[in-house]
Amino acid sequence: MNITVIGTGYVGLVSGACLSELGAHVTCVDLDEGKVERLKQGIMPIYEPGLEDIVVTNHEAGKLDFTTDTGAAVAKSDAVFIAVGTPQADGQAEADMSYVYGAAKGIAPHLKGYTVIIDKSTVPVGTARRVAEIIRAENPNADFDVASNPEFLREGSAVGDFMRPDRVVLGADTERAMTVLRRIYRPLALTGVPVEECNPETAEMAKYASNSFLAAKITFINQVADLCEKSGADVEDVARSMGLDKRIGPMFLKAGPGYGGSCFPKDTNAFAVIGRRNGSPQHLVEAVITANEDRKRRMCERIVEACGGSVEGKTIAVLGLTFKPDTDDVRDSPALTIVSKLHEMGARVKAHDPMGAEHAQAIFGKQAAEICDEPYACATGADAVAVVTDWAHFKTLDLKRLAATVRGKVVVDMRNIWDADEAIANGFDYHCIGRAPRF
Ligand code: NAD
Repeated sequence: MNITVIGTGYVGLVSGACLSELGAHVTCVDLDEGKVERLKQGIMPIYEPGLEDIVVTNHEAGKLDFTTDTGAAVAKSDAVFIAVGTPQADGQAEADMSYVYGAAKGIAPHLKGYTVIIDKSTVPVGTARRVAEIIRAENPNADFDVASNPEFLREGSAVGDFMRPDRVVLGADTERAMTVLRRIYRPLALTGVPVEECNPETAEMAKYASNSFLAAKITFINQVADLCEKSGADVEDVARSMGLDKRIGPMFLKAGPGYGGSCFPKDTNAFAVIGRRNGSPQHLVEAVITANEDRKRRMCERIVEACGGSVEGKTIAVLGLTFKPDTDDVRDSPALTIVSKLHEMGARVKAHDPMGAEHAQAIFGKQAAEICDEPYACATGADAVAVVTDWAHFKTLDLKRLAATVRGKVVVDMRNIWDADEAIANGFDYHCIGRAPRF
């Protein structure tokens, strides 16, 4: 099977590499020439555990190619995945579909023989139909179907998630298209992965509904955390008790600074728009969006309060800039809001992140924060330390050594990664999430 994947971002590159690992011949297309050249040399554009290995191995085995030439790749393909970005449109809540529609236009003139175009990007309900209209308008003689196959991988564990997903969702209107989709995913189906077959609208909806539900679960426990702080309960214990209930489950019940990343914020916003446009407002999701925005702002206030009401002229060490560990992705990370606000309020911000520092600095600018190579250097001379991302090695920092490097002893642990007793024993004024103050 010959497959083209349009877009070599987190989803396109991982999907392309994994599909080649599963036996297909895959050509990954991107507009970015530099990215394509580097990929040919085995240089990864993103940090994703295990990715480099399968990219390099399959490229050397002749099963995975990279090009900027959409036409040549599409012409020889049985299936073409569209895996380009669908960011939030400028100043609006809905998804910017220009990359998807641009990719569809680029594919259309080059289709040869029956081809299935598969939307892998997260797209509003009705997009498969719209993509089909675009292709038909560009190339009325093309023999094709458009299907939907949303991607559920998580950054940081993307390769494992693609190869061992909880489910694969295949949305197609014709048996011919579904047969091609089944062939692509047969290696996974044979390992027992549940494969859900449905129409494209259902597949498109399943992706937004899943992400919105997970965002709601995070927001729920964050609000419970606020209440715990006021009532003497401990959110970590509450979450554990809740999670043991099989109807609830333990995942996504970790209180923190609010959800972020390249998916949940934009997907909840887009889902709310889809609801309103279809005359079926998603009140719950709308409330989740508002609560999460509010939370990110309030996290900064937490630091200010812990610093005695003002951060002006104070040095704040921010540990973690990515929206979660094991990724270099900082898109919509709560840390960006926190750093920018602290800077606006006159703080000197020092920040450390093992993978995302460069990307973060490109967003908030060189003036907003000084980037440090490691956590102890970041904390040196700081009046307060804020833990924003729960990178594994932050959990095992030597608090005694940390206490010796800081100037002030304030810690705001937004991920509850440190032991309160140990922090207090080392002289820290320790603030955490969802736990009553301890003295
Ligand atoms: P990304 O921004 O990392 O990558 C998109 C890539 O597409 C870029 O390299 C860009 O140069 C390329 N591109 C854009 N237009 C193109 C064109 N016409 N031809 C060739 N290349 C083109 O995006 P991403 O994070 O991989 O997300 C892609 C889609 O998958 C989005 O809809 C997203 O919501 C969805 N998704 C993302 C994740 C995730 O964790 N990142 C998970 C599941 C689903």
